[in-house]
Amino acid sequence: MKSTLRDLGYVGACVALPLVTWYATIAVLHYDGALVVPDLDFWARVQPPSATSVTLYLAWFGLQALLMRLVPGRQATGEPGAHGEVLRYTLNGLRALGITLGLVATAVLGQVLPPTILHDEAGALVTTTNLVVLALCIFVYRIGRAQATQEERERSWAEAFFLGATRNPRTGTFDWKFFCESRPGMILWLLLDLSCAAAQYAEHGVVTNSMMLVCAFQILYVVDYFVVEEAILTTWDIRHEPFGFMLCWGSLVWVPFTFSLQALYLAGHPVELPLVFVVGLVALNTSGYYIFRSANLQKHHFRRDPTRPIWGRVPETITTRRGTPLLVSGWWGKSRHANYLGDLMMGLAWCLCCGATRVLTFFYFIYFVILLVHRERRDHDHCAAKYGADWDAYTRRVRWRILPGVY
Ligand code: NDP
Repeated sequence: MKSTLRDLGYVGACVALPLVTWYATIAVLHYDGALVVPDLDFWARVQPPSATSVTLYLAWFGLQALLMRLVPGRQATGEPGAHGEVLRYTLNGLRALGITLGLVATAVLGQVLPPTILHDEAGALVTTTNLVVLALCIFVYRIGRAQATQEERERSWAEAFFLGATRNPRTGTFDWKFFCESRPGMILWLLLDLSCAAAQYAEHGVVTNSMMLVCAFQILYVVDYFVVEEAILTTWDIRHEPFGFMLCWGSLVWVPFTFSLQALYLAGHPVELPLVFVVGLVALNTSGYYIFRSANLQKHHFRRDPTRPIWGRVPETITTRRGTPLLVSGWWGKSRHANYLGDLMMGLAWCLCCGATRVLTFFYFIYFVILLVHRERRDHDHCAAKYGADWDAYTRRVRWRILPGVY
């Protein structure tokens, strides 16, 4: 009974989450970003796929897969796979991003594609991407089931579809999780932002300072992701999560279409911020970025070389019965997830760029607080089970979960 209810929950989430992406896009495009109660007129605005949106998205997905496959890059190793094999990754994300931006700039300057095309097709693209990614999730489920370990095969079909049938479904050496987590979703997000800036200029004859800030902050985030691409290999997602609808759809649909909501809003509602706000937002984003990046790198370097100095000193650690030591220096001695704190500070800066008149422009921050608080709890349970008494010793030393002194 309990498992049936859980399975129903997974199926419900597969239906509800796409509805949220439509809701947010329609509310921003047609209802000035107001939190309206959706009626039939509202849902009638869900746009069907257009020939342009289908061509664009399929070409986009194919291009990113080709770049991932063909562009040379540094080789890195990740966690052992389902059958104990060590997985290898080609770190060519920054090059793929550079080539993509070069190709898009050429197409725009050569007047093959109007710069506003992603903004203009946003409604149809949300539908197209949802449908293509649903098909991809079914494919990933099927190969995941075939590649699953004995233990993973015990998951019900609903759990295996939603959470993932196996951790690293691959076609040959093509790693679907590594690909989907970064390339087609993250880079599309960046291009959606730029297209919204172009649309604001086309419609209002100006690119406001708020739009410039949103674009600059989010470009920094995406470029940074690819500059330190290797650090993804030690994240929770890559190391521990199975790959199913949640991560696949989340990375390919949720990320580009909900993370770009601020730019989508500003395209139709220009906001010019006073200088003091601009300075404050730059300070908030920069300090958030510093905490986020340095905390993630401290752990990443520590996992690769536990003696590498942190803040000028040899790191303090807790040795564990499990073997992998726990770091208590640097940010990991201030709170258990200072990396989440930095990420949240950046998210707040992005949302504040739109002013404070609409709840929907804070969609990202609200979602992110819920996600990271829940994620921290899950990681805590996971680590408590994995490290036992050693984790208790760590949590006694480092009391705060995310924000020192508060939570
Ligand atoms: P972390 O990178 O924080 O990884 C958690 C893991 O790190 C634990 O499971 C444990 O794994 C290890 N660990 C925990 N504490 C210690 C310690 N003291 N010393 C050494 N190792 C430790 O988690 P996430 O993957 O959740 O986050 C990575 C980044 O991605 C964060 O900055 C987060 O904000 C961001 N993120 C962004 C999202 C977005 O939508 N924009 C979504 C999710 C995350 P083990 O012991 O096995 O090494």
